[in-house]
Amino acid sequence: MAARRVQTTGPDETESLGGELASTLVDGDLVLVRGELGAGKTTLVRGAARALGVEDPVTSPTFSIGHRYRAGDLTVSHLDLYRLAGLEAEDPDLLADYLGAGRIAFVEWPPDGEPELSGARLLVTLAHAGGERRSIEIVDLAATGAPR
Ligand code: ADP
Ligand code: MG
Repeated sequence: MAARRVQTTGPDETESLGGELASTLVDGDLVLVRGELGAGKTTLVRGAARALGVEDPVTSPTFSIGHRYRAGDLTVSHLDLYRLAGLEAEDPDLLADYLGAGRIAFVEWPPDGEPELSGARLLVTLAHAGGERRSIEIVDLAATGAPR
């Protein structure tokens, strides 16, 4: 199934969903995470990172575009590109250290049309649905036949 929609009723459920998604990921995979502020993007990534074996606290990157965490032989990258209007004005190698072989990467606020992010495996979109409810859509980009 290419797309799936679920509702969660609290942060723990969103973390669990992240963990469930993580179990489908392999070395080199990239996950784009969209949704407005407070929708639960970082919460989902935290659950995924835990499930992948990250033991350090997973927090929102503030002074850099991303964090890299050890998870056994893998690196789990967590980027937040909120403050980057367009990557073209930045160093083209900016993302290189976070993506590709040996890593599994999660990118919050991915800019549209960024070639470095064109090979994403999953697109997760979170939306507020009242109180602690969140509506979450997961699209398997590899299964849609769209270019990766
Ligand atoms: P984002 O990264 O999208 O800005 P965060 O994950 O940092 O969002 O923050 C989400 C906030 O909403 C947290 O304070 C979290 O505890 C709260 N929250 C409440 N309900 C949920 C839910 N169902 N899923 C995720 N977070 C939730
Ligand atoms: Mg966040």
